[in-house]
Amino acid sequence: MIRLPEPYAGRLQPNASLARYTAARLGGTADLLYVAKESTDELATVVMSAWDQGVPVRVLGGGANVLISDKGVRGLVVINDVSEVTFGDWHDGRNVSATGGMGLTVLARKCQTRGLAGLEWAASVPGTVGGSVVNNAGAHGSDIRANLCEAVILEAGRGIQILTLEELTYGYRTSALKARVDKRFLVLLAQFALKPDDPAAILARMEHNVAYRKQTQPPGASLGSIFKNPPGDFAGRLIEAAGLKGHRMGGAQVSPLHGNFFINRDNATAADYYALIRYVQETVHKQTGVNLDMEVELVGDWQN
Ligand SMILES: Cc1cc2nc3c(=O)[nH]c(=O)nc-3n(C[C@H](O)[C@H](O)[C@H](O)COP(=O)(O)OP(=O)(O)OC[C@H]3O[C@@H](n4cnc5c(N)ncnc54)[C@H](O)[C@@H]3O)c2cc1C
Repeated sequence: MIRLPEPYAGRLQPNASLARYTAARLGGTADLLYVAKESTDELATVVMSAWDQGVPVRVLGGGANVLISDKGVRGLVVINDVSEVTFGDWHDGRNVSATGGMGLTVLARKCQTRGLAGLEWAASVPGTVGGSVVNNAGAHGSDIRANLCEAVILEAGRGIQILTLEELTYGYRTSALKARVDKRFLVLLAQFALKPDDPAAILARMEHNVAYRKQTQPPGASLGSIFKNPPGDFAGRLIEAAGLKGHRMGGAQVSPLHGNFFINRDNATAADYYALIRYVQETVHKQTGVNLDMEVELVGDWQN
C-alpha cells in the first residue's frame, strides 16, 4: 500500500484493470491505480509520495504505445489526465506551454484555431504530450522534436529539471527519457515554438493528414505501428511481402489494411499480441534477414 494525503488517498484503486486505459484495450491490472485529472500539483504529489515510499511508479498517458502484460503491473500506475495549455509570447520564440497529460490531438486543434502552425502532423496521433515527448512521436515527415523547445520534468531525488532539446537527445521514436531504465521521472510540461499562420491553411494541412491516415490505417483498437521502420524500408511493406497481412493469433490480427498495425480483433490478450509480434519478427527475419525492432513498449510483468 502507499500513504497519500487527503483527498488523494481515497482515489487510489487497488487491483484495477488497465485495459480501458490502453489504445489496444487489453492488459492486466495495476496493483494500485491513480487517475490524476485535477492539477499538476495532484499529479506531482502522488508520484513523489510513491517515490519517497519506495513504491515503483509507472506514469502513462493515453496508453497508445504500451503493451501491458496480462499479469499486470506491480506497484502504482498513474494515468496522467491533467490537461492544460497556456499561450503566451515568451523569450526564444516559445509561445505554447502544455501539460504532459494533454491529448496531442487536442493540443494540435487548439493551436490551429489560434493560428499556430507546426503540429499538423499530430492531428490524429493518439496519446498525450508527455508520452510524445518521451517517444518523440511523429508522422507525415515531422515529429515532436521539430517544434519543442524544452521539457519540464520532475525527477526522483532531483526535483524539477528543465531539459533542452540537446539534453533530450532525440532520435527516431526515441529520446534520452525513453532510454531511462529507472522510469523515475514525470513529464510535467512541454514548451513549444510554433509559427503564426492562417488558421484555414493549417486546418487544410491537418485535414489532409487525417484523410490520408483514414485511408491507410485501420480503425478500432490497436497500438499504432508495432515495429520501427528499418533504415531505408518500411516495416509494413516487409510484413506484407512476407504474406502476413491478415495473419491471426488468438484475438490479435495483423491488419489486412496495414501490415504494421495489429488489431484487437476479438478479445485479444497481451500474450496473443506478443506471440504475433514474435511470429512476425521471425518470419520477416527468415525471409529477408531484417530484424524488426519493436516501437511498442512492453510494460509490466513479462517474466515467465
Ligand atoms: C492508432 C494509433 C496510431 C498511432 N500513430 C502514431 C504515429 O503516427 N506516430 C507516432 O509516433 N506514434 C503513433 N502511435 C503511438 C502513440 O500515439 C505515440 O507513441 C504516443 O506518443 C504515445 O503517447 P501516450 O500518451 O499514449 O504514451 P503511453 O503509451 O501512455 O506511454 C508511452 C511511454 O511514455 C511514458 N510516459 C507517458 N506519459 C508520461 C509522462 N507524463 N511522464 C513520464 N513518462 C510518461 C510511459 O511510461 C511509457 O514509457 C499510434 C498509436 C495508435 C494507437
